[in-house]
Amino acid sequence: MSNDNARLLILDDDTLIARTIGVIGESVGFSTRATTAAGEFFELVEEWNPSHIALDLVMPDMDGMEVLVELAQRGCRARILITSGVGSRVLDAARRSAVEHGLVIGGVLAKPFTPGELRELLVERPAETADAAPEPGSDRGRSYGEITAEELETGLERRQLELAFQPKVNCVDSGLAGFEALVRWRCPERGLVPPGLFIPVAESSGLIGRLTRQVIEQAIDWFADSLRSCPDLRANAWHASLLGKLTMSINLSARSLDDENFIEFVHQRCRNARIDPDNLVFELTETSAMEDPVASLDLLTRLRMKGFQLSIDDFGTGYSSMLQLVRLPFSEIKVDKSFVMSAPRSEESRAVIKSIVELGHSLGLRATAEGVEDLDTMEYLKEIGCDLAQGFLVSRPLPGDRALEWAQRYLTSWR
Ligand code: C2E
Ligand code: CA
Ligand code: CA
Repeated sequence: MSNDNARLLILDDDTLIARTIGVIGESVGFSTRATTAAGEFFELVEEWNPSHIALDLVMPDMDGMEVLVELAQRGCRARILITSGVGSRVLDAARRSAVEHGLVIGGVLAKPFTPGELRELLVERPAETADAAPEPGSDRGRSYGEITAEELETGLERRQLELAFQPKVNCVDSGLAGFEALVRWRCPERGLVPPGLFIPVAESSGLIGRLTRQVIEQAIDWFADSLRSCPDLRANAWHASLLGKLTMSINLSARSLDDENFIEFVHQRCRNARIDPDNLVFELTETSAMEDPVASLDLLTRLRMKGFQLSIDDFGTGYSSMLQLVRLPFSEIKVDKSFVMSAPRSEESRAVIKSIVELGHSLGLRATAEGVEDLDTMEYLKEIGCDLAQGFLVSRPLPGDRALEWAQRYLTSWR
């Protein structure tokens, strides 16, 4: 029953376990090869091109984490099952790290495992990858190659940036709270390019200021002219009153804070669009706010004094001390999605979420969880008193017209 495309490669220093994994693999249609040595393992990865890999994390002569990093560097696309006798915390950390490195993780198995558990991972579970599933209009499968500053500059000149909007809702009553604008680049040669691939180029080449301004213009236009002016929503008195309270969140890179006229620019844009600064939330990652705490403190304080809201993004991934956090005038704390997405299967992640929410509340900040993908996590957030939730469970980020349709449907069915 073996099928030519199902090849399972096993790296385990314990030959008995390797053989057992092999037998189970063959029973569900894999051809299998096993090795106890890293050198032979990487040769087989190149030559035999396995579709699946079973990897023991802890071996006496080798470091399983190094093997994972090397696989990532070689661009390995095989589905990897991590096995080990170490505790679940270590396995969980290894899984997260492997996903961050761009590997495809089919699951983790704590030893001793039953044949049934292994079989299930080999045949059934969907793989976990760092890339989110494609959103409408995205171009999966294109390769991006190196993006140059010149290309990006042309894209900015030709106004090829597009925004996707993702809703935020209240954890308690699911009421709509606002949207976050997420930038994409509609490049004619490359398709729809995600921000992770061109924001760093913009930051290192000095284009980030121009990029941020285009994002702010588009976000305010959509918020003021499409969402808040929507005749169908305005026709309903209750919806119309809600529209005034919704927020529009915009991501800022710390480098955009160097732009001297930034505050005046945003303020002017808000005045023209008749938006209260209080309706705009600027999100800054924890790490970028701490890059230059003094400059950040100055600009962020000025933004707050004008009435804009500030959010500390990806919280939990950087190294802010409490003191730094208290000194910066944030109004919102966003729990990083890596904790939220792993909440269903990780007790540690749930504990981290809870303590970030509590820390935020004790400093008078609103707490938002991003990356909410399932109902159990939503229930948990409600239980611990988290204020807002954002994630694929509510909606993926959507192009402007679709986000507006979504809001109309959501508000009509909600009330
Ligand atoms: P972020 O600000 O943390 O945005 C959240 C990211 O998580 C978005 O990825 C969003 O699509 C994704 N996401 C939301 N909910 C879920 C979920 O339930 N599950 C999963 N797996 N993912 C979810 P995206 O759009 O690729 O943006 C990546 C990052 O790029 C953003 O992270 C932000 O740091 C940066 N970025 C996006 N737009 C801008 C911008 O206009 N300016 C700057 N400076 N950075 C931006
Ligand atoms: Ca954000
Ligand atoms: Ca984030």
